[in-house]
Amino acid sequence: MANWDYVLKFIICGDAGVGKSSLLVRLTDQRFLANPDPTLGVEFGSKLIHIPEEDKTVKLQCWDTAGTESFRSITRSYYRGAAGCLLMYDVTSRASFTNARSWLADVREHADPNLTCILVANKIDLCEEGSPAGGKQRAVSTDEGQNWANEESLLFVEASAKSGKNVDVAFFEASRDILDKAKRGI
Ligand code: GDP
Repeated sequence: MANWDYVLKFIICGDAGVGKSSLLVRLTDQRFLANPDPTLGVEFGSKLIHIPEEDKTVKLQCWDTAGTESFRSITRSYYRGAAGCLLMYDVTSRASFTNARSWLADVREHADPNLTCILVANKIDLCEEGSPAGGKQRAVSTDEGQNWANEESLLFVEASAKSGKNVDVAFFEASRDILDKAKRGI
């Protein structure tokens, strides 16, 4: 018998370099590669998580858009069946935050309208006091990220694939929202 209650498909979108592969490696393998080989980008990862409120175990199946960023629009097959989306930007890159708008437009155009989307502001380790640049690398403030997420009805979290901060939380929050919607019949 399967040792999970639900299987949830997640897609991870965002510009090249924001840390999508790194987030997936962190989630599934609890490690960080400082110099990942782009040609070996992880495209798929799977992990079991437990949602205590529901007493349910969820199997996450996560797909990275590895290699597709340059096409900007992704084929429908990639979005098919996705229950959740991690829309990522890099807090040290203004352009990646600006481009998150067109990623969201793409998701909204092709994915299920009820898809749960969480905006993930990655690389916050570079903004912390004591980081190599003394926390001066931030290009997008927490408020800006949060405000845009609110406007677009997205969940929001600041995370770091490098330190692992909030990586599990991002998937956990999104999964909880998906199960909650399912319970309410949305
Ligand atoms: P992708 O193209 O979106 O899949 O991005 P990658 O996962 O290949 O990461 C791009 C670069 O950013 C790599 O050099 C990573 O080591 C680095 N990187 C990814 N996540 C983080 C993070 O949270 N903090 C820092 N400091 N660097 C990161």
